[in-house]
Amino acid sequence: MKYISCIHLEHGITFFSNSVQICCISSHPGGGRIMQIDNYKGEPIDWDDFFSKRNILRENTRKGEPPKQCEGCYYLKEDEWNEGNYIDEVLIGHFTHCNCNCIYCYTEADKKFFNSNVTYNIYPVMKDMIDKGILSKHATITFGGGEPTILQEFEELINLLLDYDVYNIRIHSDGIKYSPGIERGLRLGKITLITSVDSSSPKVYEKIKQVPCHDKVWANLKKYADAKNGLIRTKYVLIPGVNDNLSEIKNWMKKTYDSGVRNIAFDIEDNWFKEHRENIPQYIYVMFDFVYEGYKQYNLESCELYERAFNLKVDRENRQKNLSDC
Ligand code: SF4
Ligand code: SF4
Repeated sequence: MKYISCIHLEHGITFFSNSVQICCISSHPGGGRIMQIDNYKGEPIDWDDFFSKRNILRENTRKGEPPKQCEGCYYLKEDEWNEGNYIDEVLIGHFTHCNCNCIYCYTEADKKFFNSNVTYNIYPVMKDMIDKGILSKHATITFGGGEPTILQEFEELINLLLDYDVYNIRIHSDGIKYSPGIERGLRLGKITLITSVDSSSPKVYEKIKQVPCHDKVWANLKKYADAKNGLIRTKYVLIPGVNDNLSEIKNWMKKTYDSGVRNIAFDIEDNWFKEHRENIPQYIYVMFDFVYEGYKQYNLESCELYERAFNLKVDRENRQKNLSDC
């Protein structure tokens, strides 16, 4: 049966440091953050209970009544959704500690707290999902958070997933710590690595990241790129007033190519975007177009738009459509 829903609502799970939710998407009017288990600290999950709660939401969505938190979300689309109680979309974001210090990170609010926040070990939960056949082999598994490579269970977890033959693992890593597990996944073609460099010069890198790791990160990216097969993206989060500089952006694309990486991702700083969404300055569109329409000139193969950049694109298309309808 065809109806409007989204993959997260149907088959998603998101692990945060003290809860299990349906997704991590939140920039739309409804605000997302649909709770599945509150006060969660890594306990074994009662999957019968989990899916019976989920099925109520799915049933309502099928009737045309999705959760109010989904209102205005661009992930909603009409499709033939698969029935069945399985997980096809996982976000692992239960950790907040990091070896980097980005000025735009939510952890900036209280770095000491987020870096010392003791989190749970997610390995047993993922193993349980695998053992019980709940995790689909076709699942997309995304690591976000904190920095995954410094998680105690990271290498063991990556090898568990790779051995299970999951082939779509997306890892957001700052690239400061080199991971043999990531390298293995790249060689097998099962991992997409996304490293947000947000700059091309050491000066701008350090201004944003507040750690002296520019050279190390690019050297690690080159080493990962030598592993071939898997997809690697360098990402640029545009921060107006900080790295909104065309020559920095051009050199980022050039440097990406020179390091052996062939794909990029683009986003806009979350707080700035939410504040300026209805009144985006023209020069931001110029930079957006320069990247999104111009990356092929740098011999790069693809440009993925992250949530804010994607919203910027769709908002502009909608405005242009409304104008032409008038
Ligand atoms: S529609 Fe958006 S907010 Fe709702 S579950 Fe899907 S991604 Fe999350
Ligand atoms: S690398 Fe990610 S988690 Fe670490 S400080 Fe930067 S944005 Fe935050």
